[in-house]
Amino acid sequence: MKVRICNANYPNWITLNVKSHLPEKLIKLDELARNLWSVWNQPAKELFRSLDPELYKEVDHNPMELLYRMDYDKLEELADDPEVIGRMEKVYKEFKSYMSVKPNTDRPSVAYFCMEYGMHHTLKIYSGGLGILAGDYMKEASDSNVNMCGIGFLYRYGYFTQSLSLDGQQIANYEPQDFDRLPIDKVLDEHGNQIMVDVPFPGRDVHAGLWVAHVGRVELYLLDTDNQFNADADRTITHSLYGGDWENRIKQEFLLGIGGVLALKRLGITKDIYHCNEGHAALCNVQRLVDYVEEGLNFNEALELVRASSLYTVHTPVPAGHDYFDENLFGRYMGGYPSRLGITWDEFIGLGRTNPEDKNEKFCMSTFCCKTCQEVNGVSYLHQNVSRDMFQHIWKGYFPQESHVGYVTNGVHFPTWCAFEWKTVYKKYFDKTFMSDQSNANIWEAIYNVPDKVVWETRTALKEKLVRFIRARFRESWLKNQGDPSRVVSLLEKINPNALTIGFARRFATYKRAHLLFTDLDRLSKIVNNPNYPVQFIFAGKAHPADGAGQGLIKKIFEISQRPEFIGKILFLENYDIQLARRLVSGVDIWMNTPTRPLEASGTSGEKALMNGVVNFSVLDGWWYEGYREGAGWALTEKRTYDNQEYQDRLDASTIYSMLEQEIIPLYYARNAQGYSENWVRVVKNSIAKIAPHYTMKRQLDDYYEKFYGPLAEHMKVLSADNNRKAKELAAWKENVAEKWDAIRIVSSEKSENISSNDVISGKQFTVSYVIDEAGLDDAIGVDLVIMSTIDGNEHFYKACPMELVKREGNLYTFKISMAMDLAGTFKVAYRMYPKHSLLTHRQDFCYVRWFY
Ligand SMILES: *Cc1c(COP(=O)(O)O)cnc(C)c1O
Repeated sequence: MKVRICNANYPNWITLNVKSHLPEKLIKLDELARNLWSVWNQPAKELFRSLDPELYKEVDHNPMELLYRMDYDKLEELADDPEVIGRMEKVYKEFKSYMSVKPNTDRPSVAYFCMEYGMHHTLKIYSGGLGILAGDYMKEASDSNVNMCGIGFLYRYGYFTQSLSLDGQQIANYEPQDFDRLPIDKVLDEHGNQIMVDVPFPGRDVHAGLWVAHVGRVELYLLDTDNQFNADADRTITHSLYGGDWENRIKQEFLLGIGGVLALKRLGITKDIYHCNEGHAALCNVQRLVDYVEEGLNFNEALELVRASSLYTVHTPVPAGHDYFDENLFGRYMGGYPSRLGITWDEFIGLGRTNPEDKNEKFCMSTFCCKTCQEVNGVSYLHQNVSRDMFQHIWKGYFPQESHVGYVTNGVHFPTWCAFEWKTVYKKYFDKTFMSDQSNANIWEAIYNVPDKVVWETRTALKEKLVRFIRARFRESWLKNQGDPSRVVSLLEKINPNALTIGFARRFATYKRAHLLFTDLDRLSKIVNNPNYPVQFIFAGKAHPADGAGQGLIKKIFEISQRPEFIGKILFLENYDIQLARRLVSGVDIWMNTPTRPLEASGTSGEKALMNGVVNFSVLDGWWYEGYREGAGWALTEKRTYDNQEYQDRLDASTIYSMLEQEIIPLYYARNAQGYSENWVRVVKNSIAKIAPHYTMKRQLDDYYEKFYGPLAEHMKVLSADNNRKAKELAAWKENVAEKWDAIRIVSSEKSENISSNDVISGKQFTVSYVIDEAGLDDAIGVDLVIMSTIDGNEHFYKACPMELVKREGNLYTFKISMAMDLAGTFKVAYRMYPKHSLLTHRQDFCYVRWFY
């Protein structure tokens, strides 16, 4: 017999799920640990901590892991402790009363799609600002008790954990998550098996396991492909956030959009509104279109319904920040869809192009969103304007000033980001209704009734807490990684809880200009080493693993922080995550942000600082452009002095130094007899009273309902009523207009003398009329007189004046306008026609425009 080197078959593993080994009396802990409600409710956190403070620290404040790791004897002991049981019952009662409230059905229901969610630092399904925003939104949806669910991914590795090498090089560690020890549940079918969603990838189905994170009253559904039913190459789709090549990116976006909608269908969930938070989930609209078409509608009708129920939020201020796929790659995944939709491939890919005929243009997810979502919004007032410019070529015929792109300024979830110490102060001095009415500025005015000393001491206590945290958390890793132990010890000792402390933490992208402060090291050294007025800076943030420049910045700051004159005065803290962010935004005195204008779409960390009496010192960009009030923080002007970025950087740096030297530092150290600075406290109070109420997540959520979800749902109701009657009518009307569009004719015109040339003299009344043959359409056309002004040799859109329909004779329509210019100057005028219909919510909804003269 021939002997083989090896002969073994494969084990047939049988899955045993040991649900919980909790004693019966403690079983409520399991339910509490499985709901993220505990993340923003202090008594719940305290309850878990109290079970085993040492272990709680060791498991990084993860209640699921805590219960998993506690040994049975200890649990039995706790189960017999009436005090523990009492505490548990109290928290559980509060939880149950929170959970028992039924969702508000007056407001439209929403399905929210996002690539990442920042819920808790141990649930590693987020990387930075976008995720934190989505996480905060889910929490507020729960607190505000609206009917919403989230759709995202359960990543095996998520985003990386950051550490630094001895010379300041960023090291990215990817640690797998053990799903059993996270606050999530499998979504089970009627037989008790996890629901798998079959997503039709080219040539195969990818099977996505369905999980749910309970965010208070709201469900966040998470897709996960890392399971035995998938081939290895597909298991990795949900491994990491923003990793891999374009192919991996399209796989992820296919899964999120198409898979996300299929998951909701599998669960029997339908919502009024579908909200694409950033372009990653754009393809959800493809699946929604397919569903309508398969119900029997034609493509145009389906598009009316999908558009009317969709909102796209853009977070990126630069074109390079969007996802583009070349036709080949895109075709490989999407090739089967046009025939299911009853359109051609060119029509389909054209939906993702600014110029559909341009075969070289890649498919852009954001463009697709713009064309398939009725409403689009940026995330601050300035970002709205930036987005209008960025997208203007999608809606040719209209100027950015006329764009329907709106905005909702980002906010933060107050209960998550406000330190317990401040919550205690607010609870004592603010109206009882505060928590359910957080964006009511009148309530926040009560901060002026809080004694100055209390404000100062709360600030000081949190700063001391931060210093203790830094010493405890980083001692070990720095001793291990940063060489010379005596230097590390001295560094830790040098951190000064009494020094004016300035924080700067965010993603390390170069546009955020973390380097600005280091433009003049001598001047910086004088600032931080003033013995009477010590100042220290704390930096933190991750750079994307593919962003060499961002990593270079970290290295540079780290190197500077190691110089003798900056030891303990400039700190770089590794692995910026939700936990570190919570410490920093509550522990420092000043929160600084110095982005290149206008690249900060919104930014939110400064808003977190607000809630904690931390004062902002930032460039007037993003949210701070709206938030800044004199006497409530400090600002660098939003205006650029130089086109040359290097000059601008130098100017900004020197402005920062001067403001620190002349204004900010003296103010902080102007101590009274009781040892605090009254004027500093005034700035803190102003910042809390005048700014904070406007940047809560409650305000953001209410804005989304008021500006977008509400009007969309109203419109959708009209279109979909009576078996989608109006949607069909509207689609048919658009087809008719499109067909006749080129046949519409200008028959004649009459103009008063002073407008026959293009220059119009101010003050004088002029009259223009046009007769238009609508080619058989029934009053489907509107006409504008559009005026451009010339300032400094540049043309600017000045205004569009609607012309009045004054006569109709058969197919001939006469439009007329009589007006006088209200300004002197050089102007140009032109005329444009457009389709009009009472069911169009804005002109861009049906962007046919013809200019004539
Ligand atoms: C808030 C937060 C961000 C976003 O901060 P920005 O000011 O918007 O850049 C990023 N990462 C973490 C961990 C945060 O908590």
